[in-house]
Amino acid sequence: MTAVPFFDLTAINGRVREDLDLAWKSVLQHCKFVGGPEVAAFESEFAAYCGADGCVGVANGTDALELIFAALGIGAGDEVIVPANTFVATAEAVVAAGARPRFVDVLPDTLLIDPDSAAAAVNCRTAAIVGVHLFGQMVDVDGLSSITDRHGLALIEDAAQAHGARFGGQRAGSVGAAAAFSFYPGKNLGALGDGGAVVSNDCELIGRVRCLANHGRSAVERHRHDERGRNSRLDSIQAAALAIKLGHLDEENEARRAAMRRYARQLPSWCELVQTHRKAEPVHHLAVVQVPNRAVVGKSLTDAHIGWGVHYPIPCHRQPAYAEFVEELPVAEAAAEAVMSLPLSPGMRGEEIERVCDALARIQL
Ligand SMILES: *Cc1c(COP(=O)(O)O)cnc(C)c1O
Repeated sequence: MTAVPFFDLTAINGRVREDLDLAWKSVLQHCKFVGGPEVAAFESEFAAYCGADGCVGVANGTDALELIFAALGIGAGDEVIVPANTFVATAEAVVAAGARPRFVDVLPDTLLIDPDSAAAAVNCRTAAIVGVHLFGQMVDVDGLSSITDRHGLALIEDAAQAHGARFGGQRAGSVGAAAAFSFYPGKNLGALGDGGAVVSNDCELIGRVRCLANHGRSAVERHRHDERGRNSRLDSIQAAALAIKLGHLDEENEARRAAMRRYARQLPSWCELVQTHRKAEPVHHLAVVQVPNRAVVGKSLTDAHIGWGVHYPIPCHRQPAYAEFVEELPVAEAAAEAVMSLPLSPGMRGEEIERVCDALARIQL
């Protein structure tokens, strides 16, 4: 009996194995492991892919967020509105920048930030709203930008799960003041280790992030440090791998969409897929459903050798480390009890989805 893996990274990287081997050899030839020509090449390709003017490669997605806050001058005394339903890194970056996260609720159908809940949380200390494009779907950009425009706030995109996603035809990375991407191996565009990027149409902001991420170094004089920066750079080898994998991203995202269409047709009715906003074109980082009894469903899938996950069982505002920022957020709390992520990989075969759906259909609830 063959298992259905939750996510098949071996298959994804296997498809580009020969190109990756060549890229590694070429970096080993020139030995410019940091700041090599691969980095600038990938940065301009990725900016163009996102439909944005600039991109800086950084060490990971969490740093990308933190560097955006720092470059926008967001820190001590500021509040940043963050959805409760996100990976903890979104809140972590706010705190690392010295600001306070203000958790708000999500919409019951998409599980993405609720613009009304965000609007109600705005006060005189609010500096920005982070729109987290969770599970591969972009947030309601219209709803959020009307709030940020009205109050003069920055809209920052956490696009760590949304490489290539669109809203109203515009790509993730092109709609906010700046966007943070993660290239953690399991993301839709994944490196061979950690990696991240800041993407923006604001070239001045891109320059500031580039400076801060490279020890605050002047762009023209190597030993002059204009800012108190840090070290957060994308390695040449990771940039080389990412450029190769970027060439396959649209095709892989399309394969994810095809798999989700199959799920939508074959899942039992009690397995409720997260909904898509009418203007959104998601890239389905995760196949998230809400189920009535997760413990029973999970055990049945495990018994059938089917991989599954939970994103996320504890909403950020209920995490022990963030107890100081607690709120009552009923939609995020109910979702945390019910969500479950089904297997999803770009190379997934129709019969694998059928197996997952058959295993679910057999469950007596
Ligand atoms: C993965 C992820 C991050 C953090 O990215 P890293 O590269 O792991 O630091 C931030 N936000 C969200 C929503 C993520 O999924």
